[in-house]
Parts: sequence; C-alpha cells; structure tokens
Amino acid sequence: MRGQRSLLLGPARLCLRLLLLLGYRRRRPPLLRGLVQRWRYGKVCLRSLLFNSFGGSDAAIDAAFEPIYWLVDNMIRWCGVGQTDIATVSICKKCIYPKPARTHHCSICNRCVLKMDHHCPWLNNCVGHYNHRYFFSFCFFMTLGCVYCSYGSWDLFREAYAAIETYHQTPPPTFSFRERVTHKSLVYLWFLCSSVALALGALTVWHAVLISRGETSIERLTNRKESCRLRAKGKVFRNHYNYGCLDNWKVFLGVDTGRHWLTRVLLPSSHLPHGNGMSWDPPPWVTAHSTSVMAV
Ligand SMILES: [Zn+2]
Ligand SMILES: [Zn+2]
Repeated sequence: MRGQRSLLLGPARLCLRLLLLLGYRRRRPPLLRGLVQRWRYGKVCLRSLLFNSFGGSDAAIDAAFEPIYWLVDNMIRWCGVGQTDIATVSICKKCIYPKPARTHHCSICNRCVLKMDHHCPWLNNCVGHYNHRYFFSFCFFMTLGCVYCSYGSWDLFREAYAAIETYHQTPPPTFSFRERVTHKSLVYLWFLCSSVALALGALTVWHAVLISRGETSIERLTNRKESCRLRAKGKVFRNHYNYGCLDNWKVFLGVDTGRHWLTRVLLPSSHLPHGNGMSWDPPPWVTAHSTSVMAV
C-alpha cells in the first residue's frame, strides 16, 4: 500500500518541484500560483494532524471520528440514556460515553474514573473520587509511622553502625553471628524507614497542597495552562471546586461536624465521600465560600 502511494506521489512531487523551479525564474501564472498555494496548505494541514504534540496517528483518527462522537453523544441524550441532572462536559473518546466534570479516562485501567487524581503504580489502581481519602490517609499515616520508627531507632542505629565499623579492626571483635545480623538489620531498618519517610513525606505534602487548593493532580496541570491562557488576556482564573482551604479539607475528609475530626479522621472510618462524583454541588455549609477566587 505504501509502495503504491509512493509510486503515485513520487512523480507528482517531481512535476510540482519542476514547475516550482520554473516558476522562480519566470513569473508564475495565476493558475500555477493557486496550485502551489493549495499544495502547501494541504501539506501544512496534513502535518498538523500527523505531527503535532498530541501524538501522531491517534490524534488524526480522533479528529476523523469527531462527527461520530457528536452523533453518539446526541443519540444517547435523545434516547434518554443520559436523561439525568448530571452535567456532562464532554464525551470520552475511548469509552464513547458522556463524561462528567472532573472525570478522566485512565489508559492503564482502560475506563473513565470519577474525579481522577492519578494512576498509582504502587497500588496498581487509579486514585479517584471514592478512594482519594484512603490514599491520602495511607500516605500520611505511613509517613508518620516511618518518622516515628526512624526517630525511635536513632540510638540503636548509631550503636549498630559503630559496631559494624569495628568488624575489620585487628584484633577483630568477638561478635556472634546473631549479633552481627542484628547490627546489619538495624542499619537496614533505619535507612529504609528514613528513605520512605522522605519520599512518601514529599508526596504527602504535595497532595496536601493540592487538596488545600481544591485540585487533583490532573487538574493542577490543566488549571495552570488555563490560568496562563487567561492571564495573557488580562483575566483571572477561577477554580470552581475551591471552597477555601479549611472547607476543602472538610469536604475531602467528609467532616460535617466537629466530632467527625475524631471519628472520621483520627479513627478508621468507612464513610463515603461527599456527592456521587458526577455532579459537584458543594455541601450546604460551604456555599458561603463557593465564590472564592483562586489565581494560580
Ligand atoms: Zn473513558
Ligand atoms: Zn488507572
């Protein structure tokens, strides 16, 4: 197929180049000028479809299928499948189904995920609307545990490290096999806990910043792009899901009353998050802050 195409395209390109070459020496007739312009315009269009930053043939196929997506979207609405009060912002081009706000398609799970934050390779699962709180709690308490372990075993680590340094002295120390294993295990424990505390601590702090701003990891990228675009026009970006720092945390953790800080945050709790992840009306007690403006 490619061979046939190149057989046709090759002579056509050669003729056009010859004509162009002639055209440079003499004044080009209007018909030839029009042809050259159309050829160049066609080339730009083709390249913009195939060689753009969104990644090659997938983008071209998506663009070609756009009318079909539009048709499916409208058919679904007319047939009543989507006749709910759920506001959909677009249609997922992989699932071919309406996509609510804050929903993203995960290419690894191969499905749309409500309020998708990211796909976690450690959990081998997506972090989204229903498990975001569990993910954050896990990171936070795991970091606390590692810090406690590192801090608590600091003296033991120093003693074990000092003992290991004497292994190659003359005369050699008289440590038993069991004592040597204990020394090495203590050093290994301390290094492991400290490195996990640092790495996971950084991730937890980053997620805490995002939660305080009412954003997911994906929205952080899209909001930043959007704010740059609007700033160039002299406008200010406004995140509609940012209810203010404290209220963002209350919504995220599901804290409705003061007692919930104990029963739902400090103690294990299986309560569901606010809302169903499809529509994003804030709880009644945050409506006063819903007009908060965030300039990213
Ligand atoms: Zn999808
Ligand atoms: Zn996923």
